[in-house]
Amino acid sequence: MVQAKTWVLKQHFEGFPKHTDFELKLEQLSEPRDGEVLLEAVFLSVDPYMRPFSRVRMQAGDVMIGTQVAKVIQSNSPSFPVGCHVVGRCGWRTHTVSNGSDITKILDDWPQDVSLSHALGAIGMPGLTALYGLEEVCAIKSGETLLVNAAAGAVGSVAGQIAKLKGCKVVGSAGSDDKVAYLKELGFDQAFNYKTVPSLEEVLKNASPEGYDCYFENVGGPFSSVAIPQMKTFGRIAVCGGISLYNDTTPQTGPYPHLQMIFKQLKMEGFLVGRWEHKNVESLKRMLTWVQEGKLKCKEHVTVGFENMPAAFMGMLRGENIGKAIVKV
Ligand code: NDP
Repeated sequence: MVQAKTWVLKQHFEGFPKHTDFELKLEQLSEPRDGEVLLEAVFLSVDPYMRPFSRVRMQAGDVMIGTQVAKVIQSNSPSFPVGCHVVGRCGWRTHTVSNGSDITKILDDWPQDVSLSHALGAIGMPGLTALYGLEEVCAIKSGETLLVNAAAGAVGSVAGQIAKLKGCKVVGSAGSDDKVAYLKELGFDQAFNYKTVPSLEEVLKNASPEGYDCYFENVGGPFSSVAIPQMKTFGRIAVCGGISLYNDTTPQTGPYPHLQMIFKQLKMEGFLVGRWEHKNVESLKRMLTWVQEGKLKCKEHVTVGFENMPAAFMGMLRGENIGKAIVKV
């Protein structure tokens, strides 16, 4: 019988998560039955959504939500033979018995020289988020100017690079000088450290005096209040995330964007990556090809050890990661 290690949400987060909000627990797994498989986690993802989703999708005592790349180590399902790798919505656990409904096999032609961990990053959910935010929500076109914040992170770094591939001008904001240097390495036209610039408004105006056609919003809050007035008429804003709001205990208020949106006739649309799930296989193949051709770079911030999941999660929320935050078991 296999014993799984799991990380449980001991109590709901109040403000910024704390170590004491998590508890490491052991769970005895039953033998996989007909149609079921036993999975062993190889890489686990820590993502910003876990913070707001924990409040709406979880009860205290539940295993933390999340995806992982796992290896099938026992199988009673012809769809998932022993040795194959899957992306699974298993939560923060080292081992899982799955009936197949919450796992997806990694692309058949996944190359040997590309780490499977990228299936949680650029060639996975965050990469798809970047792609769909630009193509489906912003409908970005060659020659347009994009603003993206949290730009050195998993989603932002891919969004900026895809926009460059499409022939756009890209301006990115991030929270350290190392991150800014990375954005320049990726080919961003302009990049700045939002924590140290004397005036966000000035820096946005200087980076693109004519304004922005598209804004890939990952942060929300005060950044957004300064960015929205910099949009061009008929600008499009893809509201992907609002990480500056996730740990608030009291909701932040205004300035409100209504007048800017009316006078500039802006389109602002929130989205969840799952809306275009039917396109995922084709989209992941496109992303994988870009990675193989060297057109899409995907850096990772890897924390080693399942016992360090909470630290990796909190570190990502604090901005310690350049690229995708991953835990290697
Ligand atoms: P990242 O890899 O970008 O990691 C989070 C980053 O957010 C940190 O590194 C930090 O970078 C930045 N950050 C943290 N706190 C603040 C703050 N108060 N103000 C500004 N920046 C902050 O995460 P992801 O790429 O995985 O996610 C980016 C955004 O996309 C998130 O808002 C997430 O919720 C959203 N998302 C939405 C999806 C959807 O379907 N709509 C799917 C996936 C992600 P820095 O050092 O630059 O501050």
